[in-house]
Amino acid sequence: MVTSAKDAALGILRKTYGYASFRGQQAEIIAHVTAGQNAFVLMPTGSWKSICYQIPALCRNGVGIIVSPLIALMQNQVDALQQLGIRAAAINSSMAAAHVAQTKDSLRNGGIDLVYVAPERLLMDDFLDLLDASPIALFAIDEAHCVSQWGHDFRPHYKQLSILAERFPAVPRIALTATADIPTRKDIIDCLQLADGKSFIAGFDRPNIHYSIVVKNSARQQVLKFIKENHAEDSGIVYCLSRNTADETASWLCEQGFKALPYHAGLPADVRTRHQEKFLKEDGVIMVATIAFGMGIDKPDVRFVAHMNIPKNIEAYYQETGRAGRDGLPANALMVYGMEDAAMQRSFIENSAAPELQKRIEHQKLNALLGLCEAACCRRQVILEYFGDTCPPCGNCDTCQAPPETFDGTVAAQKALSCVYRTDQRFGVAYLTEVLLGATDDERIRSFGHDQISTFGIGREYSKAEWQSIFRQLVAQNLLAVDTTGHGGLKLTPQGQAFLKEKKTLRLRKYAGKIKLKVAARLAQGFDGDVDQGLFAALKAARLSLSKAQNVPPYVIFHDKTLYEMAAHKPASPTELLRISGVGERKMERYGQIFLDVIGQHEDKEKAAR
Ligand code: ZN
Repeated sequence: MVTSAKDAALGILRKTYGYASFRGQQAEIIAHVTAGQNAFVLMPTGSWKSICYQIPALCRNGVGIIVSPLIALMQNQVDALQQLGIRAAAINSSMAAAHVAQTKDSLRNGGIDLVYVAPERLLMDDFLDLLDASPIALFAIDEAHCVSQWGHDFRPHYKQLSILAERFPAVPRIALTATADIPTRKDIIDCLQLADGKSFIAGFDRPNIHYSIVVKNSARQQVLKFIKENHAEDSGIVYCLSRNTADETASWLCEQGFKALPYHAGLPADVRTRHQEKFLKEDGVIMVATIAFGMGIDKPDVRFVAHMNIPKNIEAYYQETGRAGRDGLPANALMVYGMEDAAMQRSFIENSAAPELQKRIEHQKLNALLGLCEAACCRRQVILEYFGDTCPPCGNCDTCQAPPETFDGTVAAQKALSCVYRTDQRFGVAYLTEVLLGATDDERIRSFGHDQISTFGIGREYSKAEWQSIFRQLVAQNLLAVDTTGHGGLKLTPQGQAFLKEKKTLRLRKYAGKIKLKVAARLAQGFDGDVDQGLFAALKAARLSLSKAQNVPPYVIFHDKTLYEMAAHKPASPTELLRISGVGERKMERYGQIFLDVIGQHEDKEKAAR
């Protein structure tokens, strides 16, 4: 019995999806849910979580109901499933009434495999009644961290999904998320009543993403250089803090010859939808966006994510950078950061309507992010430790590849902290640096009498840039804090006071001066045999014309990874083509001959040229 269920799942994976074997915990989760058990699944983005509910829904009697937060993105998921020959549909307000009625009928009589709905729709009385009258295989709650107020995308309707356990106790529930710290996990399990089920926690690591964090001098130029050198033809996302910057940066990138589009909450809904569609359906589009963009985006071939400002916290950073490289191929994450961003994030927190406790938590989370920015050790280690995970130095981040030099910063820290204290904890980095350097031409210093204090001119052993780096690190290490109630001056934290009193020691990162940015992703590696780049381009062109004709994103036809494999192995017959990952029976039927022809023609041309 158990064996036959496992065989059935593997059969679907091979025939329908075109993959030879499951990865990681997928097989175990699928067996568990297919057997009717509840599950909580925490897996990094790009580990193909959705298969963990899709296959059980296909194996069990009835329809799988998928709760998904954004209706805008349901259609892409449905398109991808339909390409595989799976009967999937969405029910939402953007659809014509006749289509909704038809889908509801299919749901009622079990004539469909998977239905996607937003929580708001699912919770409507008439929809719950419909579910009562329909055969349900399972409930899958995607992006389950939206349940929790501690998570970063809290959605009140998600919390009300607790009704599923009460009203449909016999239907298995599977909650899935890629980002949840420990309190968030607990909230999800409590709210959805999953304690009797099993938790499947995979590591958080995304080994194919290269991390790189650099100090800001000109965010635009730095990001441009990064794109030009590493991603001239690729799809990517550039995140900015404000709508204005998003607009300006997008048009500036267009002037530089890139296909760039802005995306933020200030744009009309139809423009947002159009830009998102372009990003999904064309190759090589750069989305310049505020954080309003990206949730639930499952475009697998985003090759880079660049931050022009620091994000809110490490969770947000990990989720935003996690949109790169979901296909498992190499991808790059670049963050450009400066102290002024930190001050701005602080004031966002202070000016929000959140209760004091929440604000305190947000400040601590921001401190952890600054710690990541100033880390002298492996970036990945810092990130994973934040989520309670560990790894050895990764070799795939900027600090691993060019370890920053460190020095005994005890005396420098003492001087900086005393200077803050002696000037009454009211001034910013620029002013404090002038005092430490003993600037005699500064009117303000004289007018405040700060040329008479003991820290005046005691820091001449370091340059202005070096002092700025030292101050950033002291903030990152939480010895100093930016005062958000006044004008953003620096003040000593309790840890900073303890540091001075207890005469602690401290190592700091040496200021690097010129910043190395090149982080090229070696895309065509990791396949058996060499990828024929000319053939890859021809396959990509064939894919684009197929996707355009059907108005679906190219990756819905075949992932880049599948095309790379074709371009490396050059299958010459249907049997050989079926061995390529991602070529299932339905896609073989529909597209097999087209791609075999492209490969055949390419081979003939090569032969003729020889
Ligand atoms: Zn590393």
